[in-house]
Amino acid sequence: KKVILSGIQPTGIFTLGNYIGAVRNWGKMQEDYDCAYFIADLHSLTVRQEPAKLRKQTLDAFALLLACGIDPEKSLVFIQSHVHAHAELSWILSCYSMFGELSRMTQFKDKSAKHVDNVNAGLFTYPALMAADILLYQADFVPVGEDQRQHLEFTRDVAARFNNIYGEVFRMPDAYIPEAGARIMSLQEPTKKMSKSDTNVNAFISILDEPNAIVNKFKRAVTDSETVVCYREGKDGINNLMSIYSVVTGESYDRIERDFAGKGYGDFKLAVGEAVAEELRPIREKFAALTADKAALEALYRKGAETAAHIAERTLGKVKKKLGLLPR
Ligand code: ATP
Ligand code: MG
Repeated sequence: KKVILSGIQPTGIFTLGNYIGAVRNWGKMQEDYDCAYFIADLHSLTVRQEPAKLRKQTLDAFALLLACGIDPEKSLVFIQSHVHAHAELSWILSCYSMFGELSRMTQFKDKSAKHVDNVNAGLFTYPALMAADILLYQADFVPVGEDQRQHLEFTRDVAARFNNIYGEVFRMPDAYIPEAGARIMSLQEPTKKMSKSDTNVNAFISILDEPNAIVNKFKRAVTDSETVVCYREGKDGINNLMSIYSVVTGESYDRIERDFAGKGYGDFKLAVGEAVAEELRPIREKFAALTADKAALEALYRKGAETAAHIAERTLGKVKKKLGLLPR
């Protein structure tokens, strides 16, 4: 079976963007692939986190993965910092990452513009850690949203560079980006992507939001001054709502345009809100049940860490040998 690997940061409850662009697809792949999914807590340190909050968010994120349909009997699920090899390989790969290419990463440019008081080296070398995450498990495919495409391209470049010098150490990973919903936009600024770390709670739908809150956020979503529901360049707000509605209901854009012909934005926003609330309801229920048993969750992530460490050590061992690091 081909290997799939992906991760998500514990920077808040997952948004509808994370769900549609990534996590929703992860569960579906479990039958056909060997899947590994992890909570990227080391990545989240690039932005200042409050310790108690980070601890809670990490456990919540782990439970959310399970609530979204990832089955620990079928997939490897773990927490990044529990597996030392990630940080270790990341250092090694950062020595094969060029200043110039890291400087061109749009996420670095965006995040360093947003956190001007904390443009730290981790924010800059983030792609080297992501490359380590992927290459340790010899992943064939990495299912991510559009915003991670550039980082994946970088991972391939570093892997190729390393393999060129030392022989075939790393398997070359391919991006696995969904056709629809790869980039869900903010409900308040539809030219920006929806992010769970956004400070404006009206900008995103959290997958644990109550149905009422979901409907209200869609009602307040920024659109345009026209009245016709149609997918067209420049109508970023409506395009975003149509793409969300289409992914959730399975209806085509043509069909949506026909169904809402003669109706206003208000009707459409309500329909989107209700469809999303319905889609997320089972996740919210499952999450509540899972977090009620903390000991069971802990047992699951410990088991995940053990298996993950075993796989990761194999690759790291090979790398060290190739580099000429003296075995102890
Ligand atoms: P943060 O703001 O802390 O970076 P985030 O919402 O960007 O949070 P990540 O943990 O960085 O979430 O990314 C997790 C996964 O969700 C990645 O695969 C990413 O491509 C995907 N993703 C993030 N935002 C969106 C979005 N708006 N639309 C579709 N996919 C997304
Ligand atoms: Mg992000």
